[in-house]
Amino acid sequence: MANKDTVISVEDLKTYFRSDNGLVKAVDGATFDIKRGESVGIVGESGCGKSVTSMSIMQLIRRPRGDIEGGKIMFTRQNGKTVDIAKLNPNGSEMRTIRGNEIAMIFQEPMTSLNPVYTVGAQIMEAVMLHQKLTKKQARERAIEMLSKVGIPAPKQRVDEYPHQFSGGMRQRAMIAMALSCDPEFLIADEPTTALDVTIEAQILRLMKDIQQDFGVSIMIITHDLGVIAEMAERVNVMYTGKVVEHAVTDDIFHNPKHPYTQGLLHSIPTIGRKQRLTPIKGTVPNLLTLPANVCYFAPRCPHAMDICTKQEPPLYELETGHTCKCWLYKGSKEVSA
Ligand code: SF4
Repeated sequence: MANKDTVISVEDLKTYFRSDNGLVKAVDGATFDIKRGESVGIVGESGCGKSVTSMSIMQLIRRPRGDIEGGKIMFTRQNGKTVDIAKLNPNGSEMRTIRGNEIAMIFQEPMTSLNPVYTVGAQIMEAVMLHQKLTKKQARERAIEMLSKVGIPAPKQRVDEYPHQFSGGMRQRAMIAMALSCDPEFLIADEPTTALDVTIEAQILRLMKDIQQDFGVSIMIITHDLGVIAEMAERVNVMYTGKVVEHAVTDDIFHNPKHPYTQGLLHSIPTIGRKQRLTPIKGTVPNLLTLPANVCYFAPRCPHAMDICTKQEPPLYELETGHTCKCWLYKGSKEVSA
């Protein structure tokens, strides 16, 4: 349940898509929350439902093929009122006030997210003029201020340049400036460093951490890269086939992982000085169109799979305070609702 310290509380979220071949349950019962000023990671392979979760929070699911079929997305707004985003009209005025203003998003590929025919400054100005009701002159000053805050050199000149005149790292900085220009409560960063090389990635992660402290914004960081999680997140939700299968503080995820999927992800990371071969997770994420009902979907890839795993879906167990895991290996622990 949402409380005053919680910015976003996602409860049993179900987002499905109707394809010509059947129903795809991209997010199927995801539950997690994010507190004020906190950064929380969502991690998993491609196709686990991470990005669909973020698109659901932004009400950007393409209808009529896709829709939020169940659950709640409780968002505590800047005025202190809590609203269920899942129930809002995606094109209604309340959602348009929230989207880009109170909840902002940094996308993974800035070159495709920035409009190539408008200057970077014009794109930042558009958001602040729309949401903050600033004049054109005030909006331009705000755009220059934001470009300066994210470390763009000579912002007074750069504000009139086009995205193709920026380097990859600068474009991502500009995206961050745009996302923060309306002073949002909650920022979703969807694979924010995937398209960048490692030195620029380190700079952008540093910038996001500074921004979190300076602006006090809550961040949901979506990534398949556990290095980014280690750098950025205080708590982690591990997603598999649309469900959160493990949740814990970041230290526990790295040093005391409980779910075989989390363990597999960690064993797949190359580390300096490692002597043994990497142990990849066998197989791939299953086809969401052909998932059997009421089983553990990780069973075909799991080295610990038991009979019960292919007969019954495991419940969510609380192993210790704040550490939950959806796996039959922990049968006998306290069951909690997912
Ligand atoms: Fe593996 Fe069974 Fe746990 Fe699924 S429930 S992760 S198959 S041990």
